[in-house]
Amino acid sequence: MLSVEEAQERVLAEIAVIGTERVAFTEALGRVLREDVIATADVPQADNTAMDGYAVRADDIANPPVRLKVIEDLPAGTVATQRVEKGTAIRIMTGALIPEGADTVAHVEITDAGSDFVTINHTLKRGTNLRKRGEDMRAGEVVLAEGTPIGPAEIGVLAGVQKSVVHVGRRPEVAIISTGDEIVDVDQPRPMGKVVNSNSYSLAALVRETGALPRMIGIVPDTREATIAAIQSALESDFIISSGGVSVGAYDFVKDALDALGAETKFWQIAMKPGKPVVLSRVRGRVYFGLPGNPVSCMVSFLLFIAPALRKAMGQKSAILPPTVKTRLMGPLKSRGDRRNYLRVRVVARDGELLTYPMPSQGSGVSTSMVRANGLAIVETAITNVSAGESIATVLFGTPFSE
Ligand code: AMP
Ligand code: MG
Repeated sequence: MLSVEEAQERVLAEIAVIGTERVAFTEALGRVLREDVIATADVPQADNTAMDGYAVRADDIANPPVRLKVIEDLPAGTVATQRVEKGTAIRIMTGALIPEGADTVAHVEITDAGSDFVTINHTLKRGTNLRKRGEDMRAGEVVLAEGTPIGPAEIGVLAGVQKSVVHVGRRPEVAIISTGDEIVDVDQPRPMGKVVNSNSYSLAALVRETGALPRMIGIVPDTREATIAAIQSALESDFIISSGGVSVGAYDFVKDALDALGAETKFWQIAMKPGKPVVLSRVRGRVYFGLPGNPVSCMVSFLLFIAPALRKAMGQKSAILPPTVKTRLMGPLKSRGDRRNYLRVRVVARDGELLTYPMPSQGSGVSTSMVRANGLAIVETAITNVSAGESIATVLFGTPFSE
């Protein structure tokens, strides 16, 4: 059986980077940048002041207190018409360009704030309170590299270089199929023995969260024909995900259906719990993920294999896999020891440490065990107990909580 790492490698090896589209930079949040963005000018355009105060010559204030003649007033966005000569100063507001002749800004707090004349009460090193030309961006420099995921800071930088339209990765369309004779949809009655379809919806939300577009195919009964037809109807999408029907049960038809469609199956089991039966296949050029039906297995295998695949497809070049960190376990964990176990936990940052609180119930059918979880604590094969207080490798799929 494949290790999780091998399976992740094989998944990523199947993924081609999809095409691009042009979007307004204001709509680019959560997308992946697909061009290098280059600064067209130095930012700031010239040396300017980081503080409100007086533009002076450092030599003039070497022996404070000194009284200087204020020859001009310079709000931000204006340019001085005069030069700061010996014995003079120009009153200057944060962001205004440093006038010629000046080399230092005496911040208002060390002055008497005078208008015609100003008294400066402290000496300053030459260059104090200056923001240097180009300290943020230099003309011609790549300020955002192709493959960068676009967050709020990147949007700010796009605005800063006046890049109003950007090339981003197209959002891949991901078809979602739920298999199972026992599955009824949310708006249907639920006779005894039936199970409400939650996987289609949690998967659609995961797809959306990753920046891709879900396409709901719906519920498919456990027959070979229906499974084939459902997969065929999903082939227009970039990716196909199904839940259920991939185990070795008498009603598990996903593998049969894939075979009937001439699919090339890359693997169908991974040495992990939950989520051992995970199928990676290529059918008519599309990448197909067959996930187990249990809601937790379904989400965990999405987080470990499909989210990275979608990130790569959209053009992301680094930080594709979820990070693994050491955390301190705050309650005991149990495992059968037969396979590597990914246990749902809540990771909290407290006093500079990451603390991990296991969810009380760890059954792979317990969908509520994923609620408020942001991590998966890893218990390796052959280990059956991990005690509270021990350090444990933990996959983070969300930011640590503050409490
Ligand atoms: P399977 O992998 O097909 O053997 O399914 C395992 C179990 O997962 C089933 O018995 C259901 O309880 C559950 N299950 C399967 N599909 C879904 C679904 N779409 N939504 C919620 N639970 C499901
Ligand atoms: Mg089933």
